[in-house]
Amino acid sequence: MNILFVSAEVAPFSKAGGLADVAGSLPQALSHYVASIQVISPLYGQIDCDKYSIIPTSYKGSVELGEDRFPYTLHSTTLTDGKIQNWFIENETFFGRQGIYTEENGAGFEDNNLRYYFFQLVVLDVLKRQLFNTDLLHCNDHHSGLLPGLLKSGSSSIRSVFTIHNFLYHGHFSERELELLPNDLKNLTTKTQWDNYSALLEGIDHADLVTTVSSGYARELLSGEDIDSHSHKHILAAQNKFSGVVNGIDTEYWNPELDSFTPFHFSQDRMDGKLKNKRELLAQSGLDLDESAPLIGSISRLVENKGFPFIVDLLDEFVAAGAQFIFLGSGDPVITEQLHAASKKHPGRIAFDAGFNEPLAHLIEAGSDLFLMPSRFEPCGLNQLYSLRYGTIPIVHNTGGLGDTVKNYKLNAGTGFVFEPYTLAALKSAINQALDIFIDKKQWAALIKRAMDQDFSWGRSALQYYKLYTSKR
Ligand code: ADP
Repeated sequence: MNILFVSAEVAPFSKAGGLADVAGSLPQALSHYVASIQVISPLYGQIDCDKYSIIPTSYKGSVELGEDRFPYTLHSTTLTDGKIQNWFIENETFFGRQGIYTEENGAGFEDNNLRYYFFQLVVLDVLKRQLFNTDLLHCNDHHSGLLPGLLKSGSSSIRSVFTIHNFLYHGHFSERELELLPNDLKNLTTKTQWDNYSALLEGIDHADLVTTVSSGYARELLSGEDIDSHSHKHILAAQNKFSGVVNGIDTEYWNPELDSFTPFHFSQDRMDGKLKNKRELLAQSGLDLDESAPLIGSISRLVENKGFPFIVDLLDEFVAAGAQFIFLGSGDPVITEQLHAASKKHPGRIAFDAGFNEPLAHLIEAGSDLFLMPSRFEPCGLNQLYSLRYGTIPIVHNTGGLGDTVKNYKLNAGTGFVFEPYTLAALKSAINQALDIFIDKKQWAALIKRAMDQDFSWGRSALQYYKLYTSKR
C-alpha cells in the first residue's frame, strides 16, 4: 500500500500546532507497515531549506483556479532515516510569505481559502499525473477537506481517509469562492446553515473513512456535544465510517534522556537532571530561584478554548499560595495582554514568553513540576503527553483526548489531576490538590514515576491506522 499524507503543516519543517507534530511523526510509524509513505505540504517562506536539505525537483506543473493558472514546483527532502519522502509545494504568490496561516500580528491571511484551494488542486494534479504511486490519500483537517470530494468527482480509484484534528476550524468558503473550483466538485458540495460551505464537512461527507484523534473526542462529536445541529447531522450520517485513534508522540524527539534542547538529561533512575533543568528554566525566564516552590508550566496557542479565561482568573490566588508560573504562547492579543499584565504584577513569580519557541517549549516540559492544560475541549492534546514523559504532572479538564490519556490522582494511583465539571472552582480544587501532593515528597515521587511509565509512542495507534487503511469499509 502506498500512502500520500496531506497536511498544511509538518514538523520539523513548519509548525503552528499539534497537526504538525502528527504529520511529522505518524508517517514515520506507519512506514513500518506500508510499502511507501510520502508527505506533502506547502513550502512556506519560513521553512529553512538549507537546514533540511530541501531541494527543487523537476516536477513542475500548473493548476487552474477560476480564470487564472498558477504554477508550482515540487521541492523535496528525505529525512535521515530514508523512509519518508517529504514533498513541498512551491508557489511564491500563495506560500512565499513567512507565516503559515497568519500575519505576524496573529490575523489570518485574507486569501487562506485560495491558498488551500491551490494546495489541494496541486495534490490532485500530482495524483492525476501519477508523479508517485498512491493507493490511499490521508487528508488532515479542512485544508485538505475538499480532496476526498475532488477524488470522488473525478471517479478516482484512490481511497481517502480524512482525519479531524480540531472540529472548531471549518475552513468556511462562500458561493463566490466555490465558483473557482472545478465544476464536478460543485455538484457534490452542500450548503451549511450559515449559507456558506465548510471544507471540514465536505471531508467528512466524501472520505471513505473519517477519524478523529482520540476515542473520547469521537464520542463527543457523535453525541453532538458542543457542536451545532447542522454539523452534527453530517457526523451522524458518517457514523459507520467514523472512529477515534489517539495520537502518539515522537518519543525520540521528546525524550528527557536525549533531548537536544535541554541542558540536562534525566530518566526515572536519575531525576537530578530535572531539578537542574528547573533551575535553568527559573534563571532563564527571570523567575525567583525558589526551587522548592511548585513551578506550573503552560505551552499553548493563546485562544479561549485552551482555558485562558480561567487561568487569568486564578493567578493571583495561586501566586499568593506560593506557586510560580511560566507561560509560553502566542495568539489572541487580549490574552497576550492579560498574561503580560500578570507577569508585570507578579515579577519573579509569573513569566510569559509571547512567541513560538521550540527550545523553550522543551525546557518548560523538562523543568516544570506541573503542566496546566484546562482546555474546554481538546481533540487529543499533545502537551499533556510530553508532560507525562518528562515527569511534569498534568492538570487537565476531563474532555476528549485529555480524559483518555491522563488518569486522575488517587492514593497510589493516577498520573495527573483531572477536573470536572468545567468550572473555575473545579479547576482551583484540582490545583489545590496538586499543591498538597507536591509537598508530600513520597507521594509526589511515586506520581512522577507512574506518569513517566506511560507509553504514548505511536506503535499501537499506527497499527490502528494501518488496520483502517486496509479495512473493507
Ligand atoms: P493544538 O494543536 O490545539 O495547538 P496540541 O496540544 O495538540 O494543541 O499541540 C500543540 C503543539 O504546539 C505542541 O507540540 C506544543 O508544544 C506546540 N506549541 C504550541 N504553542 C507553542 C509555542 N508558543 N512555542 C512552541 N511550541 C508551541
